[in-house]
Amino acid sequence: MTGEFHPPARILMGPGPSNADPRVLLAMAKPMVGHLDPEFIRIMNNLQDLLRHIFGTKNPLTIPISGTGSAGMEAAFVNVVEPGDRVLVLINGVFGERMADVAERCGANLRTLAAPWGQAFDLEAIEKELCAFQPRVLAIVHAETSTGVLQPLEEFSDMMKKHPDTLLLVDTVTSLGGHPVKVDEWGIDVCYSGTQKCLSCPPGLAPITFSARAMEKIKNRAKKVQSWYLDMNMVGKYWGSDRTYHHTAPISMTYALLEALRIIGEEGLGPRHERHRRNHLALVNGISAMGLSMLVDEPYRLWSLNAVSIPPGIDDPRLRKKLLEEYNLEIGGGLGTLKGKIWRVGLMGYSSNETNVLYFLTALEQALREQGFEVPKGAGANAAKEVFIKAQ
Ligand SMILES: *Cc1c(COP(=O)(O)O)cnc(C)c1O
Repeated sequence: MTGEFHPPARILMGPGPSNADPRVLLAMAKPMVGHLDPEFIRIMNNLQDLLRHIFGTKNPLTIPISGTGSAGMEAAFVNVVEPGDRVLVLINGVFGERMADVAERCGANLRTLAAPWGQAFDLEAIEKELCAFQPRVLAIVHAETSTGVLQPLEEFSDMMKKHPDTLLLVDTVTSLGGHPVKVDEWGIDVCYSGTQKCLSCPPGLAPITFSARAMEKIKNRAKKVQSWYLDMNMVGKYWGSDRTYHHTAPISMTYALLEALRIIGEEGLGPRHERHRRNHLALVNGISAMGLSMLVDEPYRLWSLNAVSIPPGIDDPRLRKKLLEEYNLEIGGGLGTLKGKIWRVGLMGYSSNETNVLYFLTALEQALREQGFEVPKGAGANAAKEVFIKAQ
């Protein structure tokens, strides 16, 4: 391959990555500076303030981990879990399963609580398990991207107050920037995310925050954190007041995240969440008007990731291939037990907009019709438009 390369400019409506904001991509083209340059340190401080704002926290150790969302997950577990610690992981999808795998690799005394894929956990079942097992860490996914389920966390802080020795660890990879996340108010001790979902950046950084209680656990570990790269005792010194070299910060990705957070600041968290909610509601209205249904029941649906049940008789790979090749549009298929059963339609960050909702519904109508599934002409897009008009 010689000369320039030209990847297609896709419309990304899958489970991530979503389309990066053009301003974010431009920020990545800015000049390189050293990772200890006074100007870069100013950028780091600014970025940390903005991260605290979207996480809803005052935690000093609030930083981007160098790596994707899974590195954030790994950093969360390796730091607060020591071999033999009791860890309770709630599993209702792929990312809960991944958490359990990571916890196990940390040598945790692991217990899991399962809910059917497509459903959220009720508080009573969790509390019962907390009382019986008394874990050091309770881990849960806020936005389960494999199923489109939102786990309400508003009532967790009261429950956690009754279990003062348990740290609450939460995955907000698909919620941060799309749904409200309130780390301090909800009593979360360790919370991580990723840049390529609702923050509209390329993949590459994992914002994370640790509470004072989590920091205490890390400081009082009997043994060193087994991962050198993700040890917060050391990484925290680079992002804290010492600024000592640990590993080279990914400079251009840091620019990208800074710009993404500045854009969120300009839009405002409230209006941004409302935009995600409105586009989700429009999509659901369109889906119902086309005679299709959603996997998840109403109060637990994510705004950022819509799980649409595939009607019987539809060839899933063929339909998604048509969307990609003819419409330049990427949506996701199901994972694990939901493979072939759902489409995962992302409306994340920059990609969550009215045009994308209407374009997807129109393209889906064509692709379904091609396979003999009759949809009244324009039904989906018209129903979505009704939601947009009402919201004006
Ligand atoms: C995408 C995702 C991850 C993993 O992030 P990567 O960037 O793919 O490493 C973890 N948890 C959830 C809920 C996700 O959606």
